[in-house]
Amino acid sequence: MLRISTAAAIGAGAATVQAAAPAGAEPVRPTALVRSLAVSSPRSSPSGRGAVMLSMDDGYLAMDTVRRMLDDRGQRGTFFITPGLLNGPSKIDASHISAMTENGHEVGAHSQTHPNFTKITQSQRIAELETPKVYLQSITGLPVGSFAYPYGIDGRNSTTDLELYLRYERVFDTAQYNQTALQGRYSRAQTLIRRTCVDGSNHNQCLSMIREAAVRPVIASLFFHNIDTPINPSMTQLTEMLDLAQTLGVELCTASEAFSSHRMIANAGFESSSVDAYPWRWFKSGTGGLSITTEDPPPGLPGTRSLHLHTSDRSYSQVAQAIEVEPGTTYVLSFRARAVSGPAWGTNCAYGSVTALDYAQAPISGSQVRSGPIMATNTSWDKYRAEFTPSAACTRVLVGLTIDGPWGGGRVAFDHVWFGPSSMADLG
Ligand SMILES: [Zn+2]
Repeated sequence: MLRISTAAAIGAGAATVQAAAPAGAEPVRPTALVRSLAVSSPRSSPSGRGAVMLSMDDGYLAMDTVRRMLDDRGQRGTFFITPGLLNGPSKIDASHISAMTENGHEVGAHSQTHPNFTKITQSQRIAELETPKVYLQSITGLPVGSFAYPYGIDGRNSTTDLELYLRYERVFDTAQYNQTALQGRYSRAQTLIRRTCVDGSNHNQCLSMIREAAVRPVIASLFFHNIDTPINPSMTQLTEMLDLAQTLGVELCTASEAFSSHRMIANAGFESSSVDAYPWRWFKSGTGGLSITTEDPPPGLPGTRSLHLHTSDRSYSQVAQAIEVEPGTTYVLSFRARAVSGPAWGTNCAYGSVTALDYAQAPISGSQVRSGPIMATNTSWDKYRAEFTPSAACTRVLVGLTIDGPWGGGRVAFDHVWFGPSSMADLG
């Protein structure tokens, strides 16, 4: 799993972008920059560290307080700003926004006036996406490639996703521990980064996510709005989180760095003992009843904590994650799978598969790794692997882990799921 690029490399990159993008010029697309940094940066072992992506929304003056706290620790964050909410009492202004990018933080957009995008017209949607981008770029001189949905997944719909796809590189929404709400919620590959709201009540969970990032190559994605107010962390809690990351040596990465990572999508996510750990890494979708659990290996069976996909009927169900790729590079997709249970599997079976999809969710040629069939008797782990090379036009893929249709339902366990350049060793 990759290491996020070094702060020094990012600093140099940001300077390059700024110099190359004078007012009125075609902005440099930041994705190309961070992608090249990510690919060229050294990669840790699969048991290596992850990172924390800390972000704040709206535009309260607490943003400036947090920016200074991050600066004091040599950490970086991302600020999703709503320009229409600025300049009032207890709000930031342009000078605070300038200070963010000058100190290496990322500035993203959070709409112009904070509407619920499911309740406005098409022309309003476009204005809400374009106006803040222009405004923020005029202050920072940098392209704005990241957007966070107001109201998180409750304010999100596929129509807006499409408009976002045309205007932003990365889109963020919220992770809520309501699995039903997550179902069927992916429509565009770049909208897959979820954020866990730091609301003051889940402090211990946030700390455990940071600790996990210290030992696993995962991105702990956290966001909040203010400090010492309801549904936000206290100053004490925030300080403890930042200090913990610093003590453990966990890097705080920006939104664009989080997205550019070649993130391992399996063992990392499945090592947590909490089922709730998966929403901040996975999207879930499917045609039938799908449930997901993680589990320690049964006694006598080798393996690590695995992810189980259960279906209650004959359906095609998937969890997926977006990953940025370098066109022309050969990638490996691999996983291990075994049957856990299934009614009448003597003649029926489950399939597990990993497929890379392009933006249109069309399978990328050669990318499908399809197991089995996994009969109910396949209780030991079998390895499945494929290589593919994205076309020149393909910069992001959606990697989906799928259970495909046992009659009467069934359960397949996955572990050692790996996605990365073929030059890197996979998980075996
Ligand atoms: Zn907001």
